[in-house]
Amino acid sequence: MQIKGIECDTLNFILEASKSMAPEEFAGLLQEKNGIITEVLILPGTESSEQNAVIKLFMMPNIEAVGSIHSHPGPNRKPSQADLHLFSKTGNCHIIVGYPYDRQSWTCYDREGNVIELQVLDTKFEDFEGANLDGADFEGANLEGTDFKKANLEEADFEEANLKRANLIEADLERANLEGTDLRGANLEGTDLVGANLVGANLEEANLKRANLRSVNLKEANLKGADLEGANLKGANELTVDQLSKVKTLYNAKLDEKLLKSLKDKYPHLFKKSS
Ligand code: ZN
Repeated sequence: MQIKGIECDTLNFILEASKSMAPEEFAGLLQEKNGIITEVLILPGTESSEQNAVIKLFMMPNIEAVGSIHSHPGPNRKPSQADLHLFSKTGNCHIIVGYPYDRQSWTCYDREGNVIELQVLDTKFEDFEGANLDGADFEGANLEGTDFKKANLEEADFEEANLKRANLIEADLERANLEGTDLRGANLEGTDLVGANLVGANLEEANLKRANLRSVNLKEANLKGADLEGANLKGANELTVDQLSKVKTLYNAKLDEKLLKSLKDKYPHLFKKSS
């Protein structure tokens, strides 16, 4: 499993726990969900005391973990020999936290003790597959990469939200507010967007195959590189030839007659099946 990062809340918990434990060590094993570290497993009854927290981690039963976390009493975050021995036993993501236990005082190592970069992700809304969220308020939220597959998001508010690379396959976004929403690289295949507000939305490189975009408002939306194969754009408002000239394909797309004619005249390649 490739680790994409650590959940912001999980990191905050680690830093808090390390701080409150100091000068004693805090230690635990890291567990992931969908490639993101979301859990710290502290064995019940683990008595943490200086120098032996790491040794006690060795004695944990065979638990599925992607790595470990422990704190040092001082600002030095270099792994000791005992640390390196632990690293080689469990996973490939090992966090050492040091004094003063803030957002700058932690380092992640791989199993050999090399420093590796671990992204901090805000994933409170990580998995909403099939969820019923009609009318939900996500205004301005960071939902990058979130899974909303087949979710009911009718009339939900995503104004100015970050939905980069989000999975919205076959989701119901009827009349949703997506004004100024960042949808770059998002997957909207077969998504129902009827009547949605997409004013100023960024749909660069988005997958809109067979999406239903009837009567949406696309004023000043960025459609560069968007895949509109089989999409329904009938009655779409504020949609211009210029915007559509930048898409990846309009193969089998449904468009109002006037737009269809000017586009077919000027940009016939957009209507050919893309390889
Ligand atoms: Zn250590």
